[in-house]
Amino acid sequence: LIQIYMPLNFLGFVYREIKQSLVDMEKMFDIIRMSSDIKDSPNSIDLKAENPNVEFKDVRFGYTDTREILKGLSFTVPSGTTTAIVGASGAGKSTISRLLFRFYDVTDGQICVGGQDIRDVAQKSLRAQIGVVPQDTVLFNDTIGYNIRYGRPDATDAEVYEAARLAQIHDFIDHLPEGYETEVGERGLKLSGGEKQRVAIARTILKNPSILLLDEATSALDSHTERDIQAALEEIAEGRTSLIIAHRLSTVVNADEILVMDAGEIVERGRHDDLLAKGGLYAQMWAKQQEVSEAFKKLEAAGEEV
Ligand code: ADP
Ligand code: MG
Repeated sequence: LIQIYMPLNFLGFVYREIKQSLVDMEKMFDIIRMSSDIKDSPNSIDLKAENPNVEFKDVRFGYTDTREILKGLSFTVPSGTTTAIVGASGAGKSTISRLLFRFYDVTDGQICVGGQDIRDVAQKSLRAQIGVVPQDTVLFNDTIGYNIRYGRPDATDAEVYEAARLAQIHDFIDHLPEGYETEVGERGLKLSGGEKQRVAIARTILKNPSILLLDEATSALDSHTERDIQAALEEIAEGRTSLIIAHRLSTVVNADEILVMDAGEIVERGRHDDLLAKGGLYAQMWAKQQEVSEAFKKLEAAGEEV
């Protein structure tokens, strides 16, 4: 009994960790599917929509019965458009992405993809449509090529290189002595946060999902690198149904709709210019971030003079 109990307990622990960070969740989900509390319904069908929209209909959710985290959220991401979600840490932004990927089921309300309630579709078919660039990418202890190809195992070398080029990591890999065969991870080459994120982006480009989920996808990058990679991200988002959870407001100015969250509720919504004109919470956040980035620029400039 102990032998059985221990690993299950451990899996439960790993599962919670993964749910929390969205780390490589697709693969991990396959491995630990058995210990998942979310089950396919007996008459589940495959998600069939080709370019599905995403709808949250009065969604309520709490991790525990005693504390509601999402307090009735409603929004639609029309097919092929980008919705950005901003708000203070703890507002419930990542919870939205966990629900869309169906790590948890809503307590009340409904999430639909292409008009189908995600509780009625096979999880595999839902997750096949969603590409995730998580906050913190964990790489497999394998070659860097494997880590990119994981997005679509049957991709050709040329396709892998092209995805890496778009994610602006091809040149870096090409200059490694062993190129795409370079081992990464614990016993191999250590990559910086930014490099890992580029690998995740290349993987997602290769997967070619119709729905894109970026959770503070550029948070591990310094502002310089962030600007570089922004172009790559905008390129993948183009034409896809994208939900971008952003920490830095500079990454959301072009979104079709911005949702401003506070304590589990959407308190403002609209386009960047409209929200600025409104002079509310978003405008305050924007002003504050401008101040910070001005201060950094001054520091950088001073550093160069010395
Ligand atoms: P954000 O991404 O906006 O920073 P999250 O969606 O991660 O916020 O979290 C929203 C709230 O839910 C926070 O108060 C957080 O502490 C809580 N929370 C997140 N994950 C769990 C969990 N697994 N169990 C209980 N509470 C959680
Ligand atoms: Mg978060």
